[in-house]
Amino acid sequence: MPSSPTAVTNNTPYRFIDLVDAPAFARMLESFFQATGIPNGVVDAEGNLLSMSGGENACAIFHRTQPQAAERCRESNLAIMHDLRAGHVAGGLCKNGLMDYATPVVIEDRQLATLFLGQILHSPPDMAFFRAQAKQLGFDEHAYLESIAAIPVINKERAESLMTVMVEMAHMLAASGLSRLRQMALEHDLNEHAERRIQLEDLLESSPVAIGWSDGDKHIEYINRQFTLLFGYTLNDLPDMETWYRLAYPDPDYRESVIAPWRKAVALAKQTHTQAPELEANVACKDGLLRRIVIRPSWVGKRRLVSFTDITDRWLSEQRQQAHDIMLEMVARGSPLIEILAAIVRQIESEDKSARCSILLLDKDGKHLLTAVAPSLPKFYNEAIHGIEIGMGVGSCGTAAYLGQRVIVEDIRTHDYWKPYVELAAKAGLQACWSEPILSSRGKVLGTFAIYHATAKSPLPKDIERINFAANVAAVAIENRHTRDELEQRAYSDYLTGLANRRYFLEQAETELARALRYNGKLSILMLDVDHFKLFNDTHGHKVGDLVLQKLADVCRATLRNIDIVGRIGGEEFAVLLPETEPQQAEEAAERLRAALAAAQVPLSGGLPLHFTASFGVTTLNSKDANIDMLLNQADEALYRAKSEGRNRVCTYHPH
Ligand code: GH3
Ligand code: MG
Ligand code: MG
Repeated sequence: MPSSPTAVTNNTPYRFIDLVDAPAFARMLESFFQATGIPNGVVDAEGNLLSMSGGENACAIFHRTQPQAAERCRESNLAIMHDLRAGHVAGGLCKNGLMDYATPVVIEDRQLATLFLGQILHSPPDMAFFRAQAKQLGFDEHAYLESIAAIPVINKERAESLMTVMVEMAHMLAASGLSRLRQMALEHDLNEHAERRIQLEDLLESSPVAIGWSDGDKHIEYINRQFTLLFGYTLNDLPDMETWYRLAYPDPDYRESVIAPWRKAVALAKQTHTQAPELEANVACKDGLLRRIVIRPSWVGKRRLVSFTDITDRWLSEQRQQAHDIMLEMVARGSPLIEILAAIVRQIESEDKSARCSILLLDKDGKHLLTAVAPSLPKFYNEAIHGIEIGMGVGSCGTAAYLGQRVIVEDIRTHDYWKPYVELAAKAGLQACWSEPILSSRGKVLGTFAIYHATAKSPLPKDIERINFAANVAAVAIENRHTRDELEQRAYSDYLTGLANRRYFLEQAETELARALRYNGKLSILMLDVDHFKLFNDTHGHKVGDLVLQKLADVCRATLRNIDIVGRIGGEEFAVLLPETEPQQAEEAAERLRAALAAAQVPLSGGLPLHFTASFGVTTLNSKDANIDMLLNQADEALYRAKSEGRNRVCTYHPH
């Protein structure tokens, strides 16, 4: 049997006994001897006698025991060995009169053993010669001649062909032994490699990081469990790298603009023995969802080892933070509320591709919900919801607005809150609706933010986080709008009449005057004061006085041009700026307004409607040195004249 296979590799020198089953080989040679009568033996390269058959012969018993005969044996062996070195079947007649043959067993150019045949005779022995030799060397003649007679007589051709058969058999055995040896060494190698690989795979299987390796940029050889958990793909889904690239990055533009340049950079890094660049990319999973992944390639010999770190959560919250900032910026810039709300819906729908969102706002009366934005819901649905009265059991949003609390309906088809709308929802293809009230900083309900799904679904913590985020941003946007209205009101208009306040009127008047002076334009100013106003207050109360002032404002807006600016510059004193207006046109406008005011009625509860009049002073820009104060004084002077001339009339300023 070949000795310990674990110690043998392809490069380890092997011996004849490593290749050939020695006892079996010896048995075979013994049967050869039995069949042919030819003694034989095998000696290995180290000189060890491996087998010998028919050794009890003339040579062994007589020649080697007698010094002179033994010397002849030695000489003849040396001659044969000499011929062996030349690489041939060697044979020769020894000086003792017998034939010996020897041939080397050569495997892979190495002589592993020598096969000896002999002694034989080519022709029947010359008994006179051997009798004489027995006498000469002192052998027992009878016994010696008997052993000579036992020597097989085989002619040269047959001896050589038997020799060849024997050597071929030895070769065959040795070669098969060698290939078995090689096979075992190979198996041993394979086992060892497989063991090493199993250990590595064991480590990688339990790694919390997704890992795969490939044969360069071609075949994927291994992906670990985490890889499959993360992306859903198994090794069967990914026969090669091209398939992976196609599945992971389904958008051809993305592959071309992001992935291809990176692959080039990775290939270049291998050539230049530098660190391969990592990539942060959106990877499509088997279920179609996108994940944000940091991909880190490295080279291990010819293999490319790649790790995949999932940063989706961090990335989403960064994205959301960015979106949050953008929305707050929109709020700060004073973007229209509807645009901000639309941006919120877009953001949430981009984060959860199966979500459809709506923002409903509570009407001024605080009882009805109006659809503000819901771009992904059907029009008929939005129209049906528009104006619903809030209350318990009015869908998710109606209930959430009524309670001021989040309402999660996982399955619209079976939930009590949706009973009145179950058909409408079915028609719109909606099965789940989670609604969050939009609350002001003081806890007042402003509206609702809702996420719908086409299938029954309960929210995950990240969904709740999303819905909270959206409702908060919407609240900031809505509240800010209210504040900003208030601010504009305070800044520019008079709270009672809605006309320009004194400050804003004077600002506008300065601007108009500057323009008129620069372009040589015309500009007129009216000033009016309610006649006997004190009387209204005194007779009907301050509230009715206010109604008169509001009526006056309405009549001004209705009667004057859009470009005219009306301001309340005192308690019941008003001024009107008339751009591009000549004196005559200004007088006409004043007269028209005077008449309209005189005709107006202020309805009184439980009494006849009230009538009132006003007096007017008119002036027109007529000097390069004019300023607003000067013009207002001129108009006031004319107004004073109108009062003094009887009220309810128009007087024009005339330079003194
Ligand atoms: P005249 O025809 O001479 O203008 O008589 P008049 O009564 O209008 O006299 P005057 O202009 O001096 O009176 C202004 C009164 O308007 C004084 C004040 O009580 C009243 N008033 C000023 N602001 C308001 C206001 O916002 N609401 C009400 N109801 N009354 C106001
Ligand atoms: Mg007055
Ligand atoms: Mg007055």
